[in-house]
Amino acid sequence: MLFSELAETFDRIEAEPSRLGMTSILAGFLRNVDPGDVPYVVYLSQGKLHPDFHPMVLGMSDKLVIRAIAATVGTKESKVVDMVVKEGDPGTAAEKLIKGKKQMTLFSDPLTLDRVVKSLTAIEEAEGKDSQDKKTKILSNMLHDSNPIEARYLCRIVTGRMRVGAGTMTILDALAEAFAGKDDRPEIERAFNITCDLGLVAKTIGEGGMEAVSKIKVSIGSPLKVMLAERLRSIPEVVERLGGKCAMEYKYDGIRVQAHIKKDSVILYSRRLEDLTPNFPDVALSLREHCGFEEAIVEGECVAVDTETGNMLPFQEVTHRRKKHGISDAIRDYPVRIFLFDMLYADGKDMTPEPYLDRRSAIESGFKISDNIQMTAMKIVSSSEEGQRFFDEAVSARCEGIMAKSISEDSVYRAGSRGFLWIKYKKDYQQALVDSFDLAVVGAFYGMGKRAGKYGALLMAAYDQDTDRFGTACKLGTGFDDEFLDRLPEMLEPHISQDKPPSVDAQMVPDVWFNPYIVLEVTGAEISVSPIHTAAAGYVKDDSGLGIRFPRFTGKVRDDKDPTECTTYSELADIYSLQEHDSDGLA
Ligand code: ATP
Repeated sequence: MLFSELAETFDRIEAEPSRLGMTSILAGFLRNVDPGDVPYVVYLSQGKLHPDFHPMVLGMSDKLVIRAIAATVGTKESKVVDMVVKEGDPGTAAEKLIKGKKQMTLFSDPLTLDRVVKSLTAIEEAEGKDSQDKKTKILSNMLHDSNPIEARYLCRIVTGRMRVGAGTMTILDALAEAFAGKDDRPEIERAFNITCDLGLVAKTIGEGGMEAVSKIKVSIGSPLKVMLAERLRSIPEVVERLGGKCAMEYKYDGIRVQAHIKKDSVILYSRRLEDLTPNFPDVALSLREHCGFEEAIVEGECVAVDTETGNMLPFQEVTHRRKKHGISDAIRDYPVRIFLFDMLYADGKDMTPEPYLDRRSAIESGFKISDNIQMTAMKIVSSSEEGQRFFDEAVSARCEGIMAKSISEDSVYRAGSRGFLWIKYKKDYQQALVDSFDLAVVGAFYGMGKRAGKYGALLMAAYDQDTDRFGTACKLGTGFDDEFLDRLPEMLEPHISQDKPPSVDAQMVPDVWFNPYIVLEVTGAEISVSPIHTAAAGYVKDDSGLGIRFPRFTGKVRDDKDPTECTTYSELADIYSLQEHDSDGLA
């Protein structure tokens, strides 16, 4: 297949405002693609060559790309730099410069998808002293044979700026439209949720249809999307919703890890599918040593502990383990303990369809409890009073609250879903605020006065799974300390977008736009109907969205969360309706 066909499809998708439109363009294209190419179409549409959890990433610096463009068009690097600054991205700069150059080019070999994939792989794998030169040369060779649109996308792919607007949900829709039917969409999503690998799902459906997709199983080394909890606002409601009897566990305030324990090695994945093994090598080692299974996938929360008193320490302590530099000191200075709460796979058996109590017994029988590997504290409760007592105990043990879990026969592990099989109840709910929100930064406003020269406020957005879009929910300017404000520009720089990103709905126009990537935790006084904000537009009132009043940053950067795991429109609407019915002034 010619790469130009794919690049033209990306161009059409980028210009298409509606999700349905994007889906049908992509589906139409996928239908005519050789099954072997389907995974690459899918990966490249997200600017990758592999699934999200793969350690290799394309990430050429702008400097190298500028050098490659200059070499291709035979111009000075400074001229390319000027163009990149003017256009805001090396892709558009390459497109414009190559458009001019093309008139002079006498001969070029058309680019095939196969050649692009091989060249990108070579860029990714280039190592050693002359790796920068190698990468530049490979890119320049491709650019030499590119038309302007191909050049635009090649430069965006290698610099990690490939965002045509088709998110994961849109791609799953397109796979259903191209190779199956609308009714098959949940099964396709199930396959994605237990593998986190769009390319694998695409390849399977392209080659073997739905029959093959239904055979996709949990496998070690492929992380599952995590199961999440709903919230209710009182212990009696929680107990009643779970049928009068349920399991309650402490809700630990740490970092969630999904441990893939193999015979000779262990990988710890974060919720965002990053490899956290280098951050918690002690936990990985202990898990292997104390696991009676040859292979297992378990989940737990890593919490910092005071080794002298055995007390759990606040969340901020464990975050020292997330840094990239000085990790060996952090491992020594911040001891952690993992509290295991679920098992998803054991020695060839997919445990996700098993009921909660069976999964828990499997952990208990398969792991030796030790100083740094423990089970979450759990109690079966059959009344609100018992539940309240357990909750008080959890809070005294310095936990955030409790996680109540269904113990019914159908209490399966639902990968990637937030539902009432798990219900969280936190101590914050007893105070004025309903809950914290996790929102993506989509814009920033320059500061004034004391904040001149920095960002003074951020435009924050919630996520809508149905449309795969981000809608604004507040302008956030409170809760930042000086150190955080100083760090912000560097943190946000890689995500700058010249224009409003295609996946964002906003009426407010910030000074700088960002592609949704950085997630911050925010509290607020209440949710109100807002004519300016676009999150959950139409949910409560036509032509209005929902906004968070008096938002405040809690200090937690949720770098464990993908932007698609932000607070959703329906959660905002649920919290809004909880406030509405609240007669005791809770919100
Ligand atoms: P929060 O910001 O409140 O942690 P969240 O959106 O990250 O919420 P929730 O579904 O609300 O996710 O809560 C589940 C999270 O709570 C899990 O991702 C996990 O990190 C943590 N957790 C702590 N203790 C437990 C437990 N006993 N069982 C399951 N999850 C637990």
